[in-house]
Amino acid sequence: MIKIAIDGPSGSGKSTLAKALSKKLGFVYVDTGALYRTIGLYVTENGIDYTDKKGVVASLKNISVDLMYDENGVQHVMLNGNDVGDRIRTSEIAAAASAVSAIPKVREFLLDTQRNMAKKHNVIMDGRDIGTVIFPDAQVKIYLVASNHARAKRRYEELKAKGEDITVEQVLSDLETRDKNDSTRKTAPAVPAVDAVFLDTSSNTPDDTLEAAMKIINAKLPGLKFN
Ligand code: C5P
Repeated sequence: MIKIAIDGPSGSGKSTLAKALSKKLGFVYVDTGALYRTIGLYVTENGIDYTDKKGVVASLKNISVDLMYDENGVQHVMLNGNDVGDRIRTSEIAAAASAVSAIPKVREFLLDTQRNMAKKHNVIMDGRDIGTVIFPDAQVKIYLVASNHARAKRRYEELKAKGEDITVEQVLSDLETRDKNDSTRKTAPAVPAVDAVFLDTSSNTPDDTLEAAMKIINAKLPGLKFN
């Protein structure tokens, strides 16, 4: 099976690129951040402090997380059988996800869900450790970067569109905190794989980024056809 890993920090454009590539290639798109967000959602909704590592680890036995895909190829994360929908897309849950994702047992808990996807399907997977930990053997690894300003602006627009009352400054500060947590944690820190190709999306439109990524993919897998 073919595995394309797209890693990078929040707001670097991973999901926009991965979704577009999955359409162009007919691959399954796996958004792994949604899995960590789902654990963050569970603990938040069940009154468990997300900084309480023992409490979070103890709650894992009560959690089942599954990935489902609808007829349009859109991913749905099922938490104990119920679709989490947009409840995972708030800044509160993003902070919870960042905290729980630093716990090794949480990462271990989600490992098979991610790896199993590539047993039956060609996948485009985005996250923080796809090229380093989940699929070190991925045929293509792209690491997206963008300026803090560009990333904060994108996230701000997304959260605003969802009705969240937040400022750009707050989004920027949340982003910097998450970057620091994600890149300095001991287990699976968010760092580029040594064989990843960097792509700076700061001043790109989504189409610019898609085109650049297709060139990278084409160079690694010349036989692959894009729709
Ligand atoms: O990408 P997204 O913003 O949805 O991810 C939410 C959080 O989940 C990130 O801040 C990061 O802490 C964590 N994450 C991770 N490993 C991944 C994907 C996400 O640690 N593969």
